[in-house]
Amino acid sequence: MSTYDLIVIGAGPGGYVCAIRAAQLGLKVACVEGRETLGGTCLNVGCIPSKAMLHASHMLHETHENFEKMGLMGAHVEVDWAKMLGYKAETVGTNTKGIEFLFKKNKIDWLKGWASIEAAGKVKVGETVYETKNIVIASGSVPSSLKGVEVDNAGGVVVDSTGALELPKIPKSMVVIGAGVIGLELGSVYARLGAEVTVVEYLDAITPGMDGEVQKQFQKILTKQGLKFVLGAAVSGVATDNGTAKVTYKLRKDDSEQTIEAETVLVATGRRPFVEGLGLDKLGVELTERGFVKIDDHWQTSVKGVYAIGDAVPGPMLAHKAEDEGMAVAEVIAGKHGHVNYAVIPGVIYTTPEVASVGLTEEAAKETGRKVKVGKFPFLGNARAKAVFQGDGFVKLIVDADTDRVLGCHIIGPNAGEMIHEICVAMEFGASAQDIALTCHAHPTTSEAVREAALACGDGAIHV
Ligand code: FAD
Repeated sequence: MSTYDLIVIGAGPGGYVCAIRAAQLGLKVACVEGRETLGGTCLNVGCIPSKAMLHASHMLHETHENFEKMGLMGAHVEVDWAKMLGYKAETVGTNTKGIEFLFKKNKIDWLKGWASIEAAGKVKVGETVYETKNIVIASGSVPSSLKGVEVDNAGGVVVDSTGALELPKIPKSMVVIGAGVIGLELGSVYARLGAEVTVVEYLDAITPGMDGEVQKQFQKILTKQGLKFVLGAAVSGVATDNGTAKVTYKLRKDDSEQTIEAETVLVATGRRPFVEGLGLDKLGVELTERGFVKIDDHWQTSVKGVYAIGDAVPGPMLAHKAEDEGMAVAEVIAGKHGHVNYAVIPGVIYTTPEVASVGLTEEAAKETGRKVKVGKFPFLGNARAKAVFQGDGFVKLIVDADTDRVLGCHIIGPNAGEMIHEICVAMEFGASAQDIALTCHAHPTTSEAVREAALACGDGAIHV
């Protein structure tokens, strides 16, 4: 029987990053993973395959929409679905193999199989019990279910995000239940591939929790791209018949019952923590009301020596949040000072245009009672954005009116997911809008729009 300093359960972005950092800090580490490949939800059925599909479908959209405008003429580009799925699988494969390489390089043992925790310091995989000084639960999450809706990924008619990344064919029509990040990203993919996509959402706005102005602009842009939206609608059931589905929903405004038919229904109503089979109940690890593992400020659960991170614990269900927690908890276990600044965790939607945000929304900043200043700059005033047909959208900077300190930023536009990090760094350093406004930004870049939004917080933007 081997004895470890740390056994990590789950090799998603939380778990594998934790294992690598702990090994770098000199600990003897093993990581248990039940899947055939490393990388968790993110690399196998989440961030990476969805971005591959977004990229491929964006390229197709460019050939149809914008190539001719640039004088690029030629035969109409057609989709070879099997090849596109092959490109996605290859992208996933190179990334999951990359984690295997990193495990070998850092001398981390991959214990293959599903783990349960027999007691603090004892992890069982198959018939073997491994001893360890510390355990990190990084078991991630799975799609939430919806009452009255049965998901059957293999059937390809009513699917969750995993099934939507592996459909047998491009459907002619698709209903997406839930207007959150995953639903809108995958809905965009299929809309660009030619499906008629209708998004049905319970709330009255898309992307709940986002800045209100961004929500409205985003919905307008997606509508222009052909997505239809039914908001304020509670789905009560999905019936399937001979390869098609009928979605029944009730409109909240007048209680009227409606139905909509589609070849495919994507259920994208969120995700829930996955802790089944770990034996947490017997061990005495406390969970929150919503089933997340309860942790203290150092990611320790209610049982000493057992920690938890990532989607299995409360907070935004994002790969980079899981990674940050993975690094931090490894440092705590190694006797160092692990730290995650939860106030500066960016969120990105990888549609075209991208949507990115960090920190407080205008609404949330005002709720804190402070005086708030907003600096806004439209991409219509940015030469680079217009050159790539992406003049829709804006940068919105939220600033404390008394101190000029940056409180948040919301961007809808080209490269938003990259540009947001300038603001993350600014917020980490406690920068003011003036600090950003005084920083020289290269021309022509879309980042100039961030500087212009900062200028708009002072004497005014130039290109408006
Ligand atoms: P996971 O990645 O879920 O990994 C947990 C792993 O633990 C799994 O591989 C599981 O098999 C394993 N496991 C569980 N229990 C056991 C056990 N008992 N024994 C052994 N192994 C076990 N986030 C972003 O930040 N950016 C994105 O663009 C993005 N896109 C997404 C797109 C989709 C379609 C989906 C579904 C998710 C997306 N996410 C994205 C969310 C992101 O995937 C998760 O936040 C992230 O994977 C969480 O990491 P984790 O390490 O906590 O858990």
